[in-house]
Amino acid sequence: MRATVMYGAHDVRVETVPDARLIEPTDALVRITRACICGSDLWPYNSMEPSTTGNRMGHEFIGLIEAVGSEVRTVKKGDLVVAPFAWSDGTCEFCRQGLQTSCIHGGWWGGTELDGGQGEAVRVPLADGTLVALPVGPDHALMPSLLTLSDVMGTGHHAAVAARVAPGKIAAVVGDGAVGLCGVIAARRLGAERIIMLGRHTDRIALAQEFGATDVVSERGDAAVERVRGLTGGLGAHSVLECVGHGESMLTALSIARPGGAVGRVGVPQTATMPAAQATFYDNITIAGGPAPVRAYMEELLLDVLEGRIEPGRVFDRVTDLDGVPDGYRAMNEREAIKVMIAF
Ligand SMILES: [Zn+2]
Repeated sequence: MRATVMYGAHDVRVETVPDARLIEPTDALVRITRACICGSDLWPYNSMEPSTTGNRMGHEFIGLIEAVGSEVRTVKKGDLVVAPFAWSDGTCEFCRQGLQTSCIHGGWWGGTELDGGQGEAVRVPLADGTLVALPVGPDHALMPSLLTLSDVMGTGHHAAVAARVAPGKIAAVVGDGAVGLCGVIAARRLGAERIIMLGRHTDRIALAQEFGATDVVSERGDAAVERVRGLTGGLGAHSVLECVGHGESMLTALSIARPGGAVGRVGVPQTATMPAAQATFYDNITIAGGPAPVRAYMEELLLDVLEGRIEPGRVFDRVTDLDGVPDGYRAMNEREAIKVMIAF
């Protein structure tokens, strides 16, 4: 089969790899119908040391089940399924509390050991805990929005939950990538009264406003903090969604939260230390978040997608086939595209 392999910074190739196959009795074999490139794939795209073996890429996908192992019960051959960006058993201590990204028996797609989503097929470990069957066909018009349940919509939702967004509150979203845009959808969905989007790209800001952003702050650093304070009567936002992961964006997020407020961080931190330790201490700021347990949110968000209440699939502004994946990385890296969908 063919799949995407990253060999180093700016070196993404589509090549022939060993066919995905069932190994454990709890596995499912999924033939991919839709996948995508993630903003987090751009971190290794810009920094990976050259490797001779390479890393299989992709952690967001929808596909048709071709076969299941003898112990799989909840999904079957022929089902169209969506996978979260981490696989999990669904039964351990952490899965039962809705923190599937910390599953004791779970793990992450791709790398050197497992198949990735940016390929023709995937062996899905722990299929019962991991996969969710979709009640539509593989070419349904809702595919883009359903695909965001793999990661970006669930991640934006997690940021909003961690930031304690609730009716009547002022939310602020730092980052206008696909996750930040889904964060706007999530903040609105959870009842935020005002949603301040911090971002600079005109096309993304326009989409954020359609998703529910009420104010836009395009400044950066201290100027951005000042603008948000100006928009909030000098107090700051109740709930801040940090959707980037840079030291600078984290500092901005922590600086615009009001005393007693909360920052939900879902951008993978690119620095080892957290800024503003003293200021956030004296302001009693809650700092929460991490990798989103998107599996925990799938059923709830799926319903909203199916019933047309949210349309997160609009973050996809480019579609490619598997051969176009290397150029898709380039386009996202150069901010030519917000998010690239791969159709098989
Ligand atoms: Zn578990």
